[in-house]
Parts: sequence; structure tokens; C-alpha cells
Amino acid sequence: MNSIIYLDNAATTSIDPQVLEAMMPYMSDYYGNPSSGYSIGRESRLAIEMARKKVADLLGVKPTNIYFTSGGTESNNTAIATAVTELGCSHIISSPIEHHAVLHTIDHYASQFNITSSFVKINSAGAVDLLDLEEQLAKKSEMGIKCLVSLMHANNEIGSLLDMDEAGQICSRYQAIFHSDCVQTIGHYAINLASAGVHFAAASGHKFHGPKGTGILYVREGTSFVPLIHGGSQERKKRAGTENVHGIIGFTRALELAMENQVNDQNHIQALNERMRNQLSALSPQISFNSTAQSLYTVLSVNFPEGSNTDLILALLDHEGICASGGSACTSGEEAGSHVIAALKKNLPGATIRFSFSKKTSEKDIDTAVRAIGNILESAKPRVSA
Ligand code: PLP
Repeated sequence: MNSIIYLDNAATTSIDPQVLEAMMPYMSDYYGNPSSGYSIGRESRLAIEMARKKVADLLGVKPTNIYFTSGGTESNNTAIATAVTELGCSHIISSPIEHHAVLHTIDHYASQFNITSSFVKINSAGAVDLLDLEEQLAKKSEMGIKCLVSLMHANNEIGSLLDMDEAGQICSRYQAIFHSDCVQTIGHYAINLASAGVHFAAASGHKFHGPKGTGILYVREGTSFVPLIHGGSQERKKRAGTENVHGIIGFTRALELAMENQVNDQNHIQALNERMRNQLSALSPQISFNSTAQSLYTVLSVNFPEGSNTDLILALLDHEGICASGGSACTSGEEAGSHVIAALKKNLPGATIRFSFSKKTSEKDIDTAVRAIGNILESAKPRVSA
């Protein structure tokens, strides 16, 4: 493979070789079905339960609170479904900048069941208005309506962060069920889910150098919960299907490595983020940012000058071997644009691109990418003939 500069780590990350190493035996030697009673089946079962214990320890919860799933999408779906079908929530309060794994799921349940939904207000930086959340919950509670609050911990396009503790306290004042999509933060921050006030939280292995198709759903102690996927009695009858043993091992090793090196990795990535922000600011005063200094440190969402086109910049970057993502409010071709950028109501006149970093990103990657961006912007300037 040609060498690339990969600045799209919020989309996915490369698998860590140590993670792959941990997974390999579970694809070759330990291939027993964990539900089988003989020794190689028992070995797989033991590996899963040890993994569950490790994940629980790393997130400050009990092993019985952790369910292994196929990733963030399934975990979010399961939490929302259970809140509606099992926990009696008939109104869902969410935000307009949630991932589609949440927004489309809410739309689905709203259309299938007799429930309503609303958004909390957000500001132009994507910060949730917690006073508005409290007011909405107060009104619903006066009417005797039980609510699900589904708010992501960090936004995947712009990196805005939710004060989960504060949101959790507000939810608990009104006996609301609180679900948080933590796909962009679990593995990137030291998080104690037990004290975060959430009933449900979702994480995804491929966002922190683990394998794709792996994730967890955290369910708070004492929260009743029904399966989304029916069949066998795996995951204590809450998630049917033969366990993805090597995936579970990979998820767990990736989380372990991420937490062991969290402070170092965060410092490294934060410095790269600031380096790119400073260099881009120096390129043009017309460049602005959707991410703030307080945002998720892995993400830098950049607005380019008027007339610039997201798809064109991404294609030109790709031509230079640089991978990044679009995040633009304006429509190009059949693309609907980003619902997140549109919700910020900034009326941006140009391209918006998300750069996202990992422990594997280097200063040289940033410098090369900014040089390429500088050339692209320069070549787009109208030529003045002498
Ligand atoms: N939620 C957020 C915030 C995400 O960024 C993603 C992945 O892009 C998901 C959910 C979906 O996770 P998965 O790919 O594990 O299904």
C-alpha cells in the first residue's frame, strides 16, 4: 500500500499490532464455541468472561453491567429500543447533532410506537443547553410523561463535549432514563461510567485501534433491559448469536492499551491538533474552526474560505495521499451535507472538513497536510493578469 497520511481517525483507526497479536490465538487455537461444554469451548467462555471483567474494571463498573455487541450502532439501537419498549419512555429528548445511529433509531421508534421526540437547544459550537434540557424535562414530568434523554458524550464531526455528570444529575431529578453515545470518548478519556449518571452507554472498538464490528453496551445496575437480537442465550440472554470471541478479545486489549497510555496519547494528539489549528490560522484569516480548545482532542473541524468546495478539497487531498472527511452544510451533488454543521446555523460559505488524529499521527503528517492545503487554496485563488 502506498504511504498515506491518515487524518480520519474519528471515522476509524488502524488496528494496533498488539491488539492483533492478542486476537490471533482466538482465530486459530482457541476456536471452540463458548457455548460448548468441552474444554476448548470452556476456554473461549473463560476468555470472554475475563475480557468482560477487564472492560468493567477499566470503566469503573461491574462485569454484569457490560454486554458485548457488534459496535456503537447496535448498542445505541438496543438502548433506545429498550427505553421505549421496556422502560415506558414515551418522549425522547435528544440533540440535532447526534450520530445517525441515534437520530434514525429515534425516528424509527417514533414512527412505530406512540411516542414523541424533541431536540434540546444547542449553541453555534454544538454545546447542549442544559437549562433547556431541564425545562423540557420539568414540563414532561409535570404531565406525567416518562422521558429518555439521549445525548452523545462527544460529537464525531466537531468534537463538542457534553458535561455528562451535569446532564446525568438533571435526568435523575426528573427520573428520566439517560443514554449516552460514548463512541468517540470511551478509549480516549478515563471515564467512570458508574459515576457518570448514565443508564446506558455505547462504545465501539474500531475508534481506539481495536477491530471493527466490536463494541459494548453498558447498562446501569438495576436497569431492566430487553434484547434487540433474539435467538440463543448468549450474553445472559440479552444478545443472541455466537460470540465474536476474537473481536471481544481485540476490543478489550485495545481498551486496555488505550487506558494504559491515555495521558501520553492525549498530550501527543492535543499538541498535533493545536499545531494544525495554528498552521491553518496562519495560512488564511478566512479559515475558521467548529472545534474549540475545549472540544474532543482527536477532532479538528475546519471551515475553509468562501467559494471552496468540500468534495474538491477532499479529492485533491486524496490525490496527495491525505485522508480526511467532509462535514459541510451545503449540498453538493446528491449528498445531503452534514446535519451537524447545518444544526450549528453558521451559514458557512465554503467547505468544512474534519481532520481527526490518533496516537499514530506525527508532526510531519500535520505539516505535510497543511502544506498541501496551502497549495490547494493558492491554486483556487483567481489569477490577476498583469
Ligand atoms: N456513534 C458515533 C458518535 C460514531 O462516531 C459512530 C461511528 O462512526 C457510531 C456511533 C457508530 O459506531 P459503529 O461504527 O461501531 O457502529
